[in-house]
Amino acid sequence: MKKVALFNGVMVMAGMALSTQPSRAQQQDFSKVQIKVTKVSGNIYMLEGSGGNIAASVGEDGIVIVDDQFAPLAEKIQAALKGLGITDKPVRFVINTHYHGDHTGGNAPFSTTGSTVIAQDNVRKRLETGGTAGTGGAVKMDVPAAPKAALPVITFEHDVTVHLNGEDIRALHFPAGHTDGDAVIFFPKNNVVHMGDDFVRYGFPFIDVTSGGSVQGMIAAMEKVSSQLPADVKVIPGHGEVSNLDDVRAFVKMLKETSAAVQKAIDAHKTVEQMKQEKILEPWKKWSGDFIDQGKFIETLYSSLTGTKGEFVKHN
Ligand SMILES: [Zn+2]
Repeated sequence: MKKVALFNGVMVMAGMALSTQPSRAQQQDFSKVQIKVTKVSGNIYMLEGSGGNIAASVGEDGIVIVDDQFAPLAEKIQAALKGLGITDKPVRFVINTHYHGDHTGGNAPFSTTGSTVIAQDNVRKRLETGGTAGTGGAVKMDVPAAPKAALPVITFEHDVTVHLNGEDIRALHFPAGHTDGDAVIFFPKNNVVHMGDDFVRYGFPFIDVTSGGSVQGMIAAMEKVSSQLPADVKVIPGHGEVSNLDDVRAFVKMLKETSAAVQKAIDAHKTVEQMKQEKILEPWKKWSGDFIDQGKFIETLYSSLTGTKGEFVKHN
């Protein structure tokens, strides 16, 4: 069975309804996860294990990583970085792209071993309080409050720059996209960008409407980024393989077209159930995935476009 580890260590089984049957979600065995390291450009690497992609700047000043997957993988991630044989210096900074557990799960072990965690203001707030993540529909996940050691020590509202390894590493906040605390991280010298989960390769994206995300914000963020970055920038998505700006544009095009289809149905006073029955996203079915299928993406877009945070689905 195809499995996708996308959230808080819960394996999403193909075709399963995540929120309605949490007992079918199985906790992942992290002891079996191996960390794969790929050189993206210059001294920037991508690390894949389980959860969101990690970007790493590895050089004479030490190491900066973007996102840190899950706590049980922290030692393996550190070993993989050391195994490059470039530096014995530690991970000095961790920059979180957003608060989800598959991107911030390693914050506590990294900070207790000397790393400083940096994130947008709302990442800290959401980690501190916990809450609910979801599409405003069937995908709904409880997020427990994170321990103090997992909280970012440095936060920023709009942007921050980390000057290390001869590079001005820029973290830029884009409001209300995948969540309300997203940052895109650009490595200008090496011409690499980490998009966080504002851009993913697993199909229709999970947009955390319950945590302040919206499809409109995701479109705005990716359009702005693709218009401002160099045409040949290498793109590390939140999940999936290294990509380019054409891939980002194809993703944005799909987001715009599917949003228009759902908006048209909203204007015609159709309910979410009717939209699902009529399979209004069928023309984009190649984007339908194990995690977010057509029905769940209809719910996501409906929530985004109507400003609903979700309780409507229960009464459908
Ligand atoms: Zn996420």
